[in-house]
Amino acid sequence: MNVSAVVRRHRLLLGSGILLGLLGTAATLLQPLLIGDLIEAVAVDEPTMRPILLLAGLFAADALLAATHFYLIGRAGENIVFDMRGTLTGRLLHSRIRAFNRLEHGDVFTRTVADTSLARVALSSSVSQMITSGSTVVGCVGVMAWLDWRMLLATVGCLGAASVIGLGLARAVRKAAVTNREDTSNYGSALLRVLGALTTVKASRAEEREAERIGELANAARASGIHVTRLSAMLMPAMNVGTQVSLAVVIAWGMSRTATGALPIEDLTAFIMYLFYLVSPLVMLFMSLGEIQQGRAAIDRVKDLARIETESTEGAPASTPVAETPAVEFKDVTFSYSDTTEPALTGVSFSLPRTGVTAIVGPSGAGKTTLFQLIERFQVPDAGTVRLAGTDIGALRLDELRSRIGLVEQDAPLMRGTIRENLTYARPEATAADIDEVIAAAHLADVVSALPDGLDTHLGEAGIGLSGGQRQRLAIARALLTRPDVLLLDEATSHLDSDSETALREAISAIGARCLVLTIAHRLSTTIGADRILVIEDGKLRATGTHTELMEGDTTYQRLASRQMTPVGGGAR
Ligand code: ADP
Repeated sequence: MNVSAVVRRHRLLLGSGILLGLLGTAATLLQPLLIGDLIEAVAVDEPTMRPILLLAGLFAADALLAATHFYLIGRAGENIVFDMRGTLTGRLLHSRIRAFNRLEHGDVFTRTVADTSLARVALSSSVSQMITSGSTVVGCVGVMAWLDWRMLLATVGCLGAASVIGLGLARAVRKAAVTNREDTSNYGSALLRVLGALTTVKASRAEEREAERIGELANAARASGIHVTRLSAMLMPAMNVGTQVSLAVVIAWGMSRTATGALPIEDLTAFIMYLFYLVSPLVMLFMSLGEIQQGRAAIDRVKDLARIETESTEGAPASTPVAETPAVEFKDVTFSYSDTTEPALTGVSFSLPRTGVTAIVGPSGAGKTTLFQLIERFQVPDAGTVRLAGTDIGALRLDELRSRIGLVEQDAPLMRGTIRENLTYARPEATAADIDEVIAAAHLADVVSALPDGLDTHLGEAGIGLSGGQRQRLAIARALLTRPDVLLLDEATSHLDSDSETALREAISAIGARCLVLTIAHRLSTTIGADRILVIEDGKLRATGTHTELMEGDTTYQRLASRQMTPVGGGAR
């Protein structure tokens, strides 16, 4: 992500905000001088109306400028963070599954939400604060030097010492804040991971252990948070002591010089006012410098995330398939998940016709799911080609490829919303007739009509309210709505009641008449009904055939069949 380009896009808002801030600074800096004039007018008994009106005008202008400055800078900041988050969201959604799987979800969340916020503060308010506070400090010091340079030296002596302490403290605050953010992020990541596996935690009766472990992480965040507060608590008082000492010096010395007539009273008053005006911007300046540094680290983390590898959306449109071309064809496909692991598939070749049900069987960890990952191009083969209707899928546009494939995953994850919204997720423009058709094809009509609001029934989180078999049939209906050429189905390993099982089986055979159904089979009944079976073991295609043929000729199949296929809950993922 090009952060400077993002900032440049909002330079008009930022620039005008900073300009108004500087004008506000000038309005502030003029005030003590006008008060000096007012005191002088009172002292020599001149009319005071003019200086009072001028002063009132200046106060009003100051307030107006400060408010507009604050608004413009805040707005620019929100625009900047919006752009950054938009870029991140887009890149994450288009990221390659392989790259995405390497990320910690908690870390992604921290970078997209918290780091972008820090970057916003650094790029908008801190930069503008640094410029306006810096110029206030310079302006104050300049006017003070002009009013009385000797007293300025005394002030700089006292405030300088406090500033050195203040600067050191500000730096320590920043470091402590970085640690605190890391601790907070560790706590968030750990909690997210545990909540994602809440049923496992409960089933293992690990609630107390997890509460203790996560409690320790929360405690680390608390400790570093307290450290930040301790250091911050000293920052303002350190500066205050500096101000108080310089004030005492300025008043005592100034009064003695006023008494001798060396310093007019109005100049002393103005000088003291400038002293007050100086302190707060000085602290702000230190703070904003710290925030900018902190923001730089956050920007680096955001940029790092934005560099995630994305899928290419380019590619050729698919050629019109000729009737006899295979729907799916693997040619010498070899693939490993990483350079260091054994290949998940080695030299796999097969071709499948355009209709019918093909079951894939094999022990868990054999490479069945990996086949699906390659067909969907979630992963890319290291060698060999995968073709869809005769075209190498590497050359196809991703959008086109995935619109021709329907994927039904094992746990059939559903999105939030109504049944209708779930069904039309991949094809929001589907008509009522299309929906009725897929509901019938997935043998769901009775289920839907029994629900209180039919298609408009709201599903709970993760599809609560439907049984496992119904959820999988709903996922099948969703996949069918895009009229895929190939339906990839990872059969649920969980036990289905016999009604659901029969409904699912009938639905699959009926769908097999119109497209290729490729199903990872965990049940013997699926393979018996399949038109052909691929037996995979250790990443290799062992045998192909029908149930009867394989029962005669393949020992792995015989073994799996005698155990009624993959043990329930199998699947090494
Ligand atoms: P199956 O679906 O037949 O149970 P998979 O295709 O899921 O098997 O896995 C095949 C092999 O690839 C296994 O050895 C498994 O450990 C490995 N594997 C699967 N997914 C990943 C992954 N995301 N990263 C690394 N290795 C993986």
